Amino acid sequence: MAARCSNCGNLLLPPKPMCTKCLSTDLKWTEIEKRGKLLTYTIIHVAPTQFQSMVPYTIGIVELRNGLKLPGMIRDVEPQEIEVGMELEVDFDTTLPSQWPPWPRYFFRRP
Ligand SMILES: [Zn+2]
Repeated sequence: MAARCSNCGNLLLPPKPMCTKCLSTDLKWTEIEKRGKLLTYTIIHVAPTQFQSMVPYTIGIVELRNGLKLPGMIRDVEPQEIEVGMELEVDFDTTLPSQWPPWPRYFFRRP
């Protein structure tokens, strides 16, 4: 979900309490497109403590079809198969340990 400004239509992801274009506070939740293309990525070999069991893992920035850019982990794709421009979609995982972050975790995978 993102916040859409009712005044100018700007989409805010992550949501903010005020529109970054026109400063309106009249914002509404809107469901966003979950598919997009990979813009860039990096493979993590030295991770924070809570992610050390997952190394190596890939973090990428995906440009969703509405133009929003979202960073996140890419799963179920071998590092050598990852390509800039590949189609990915957002999915959610509730099975990971819940120490951090304390909200539902999203990740990217092949559609
Ligand atoms: Zn606005």
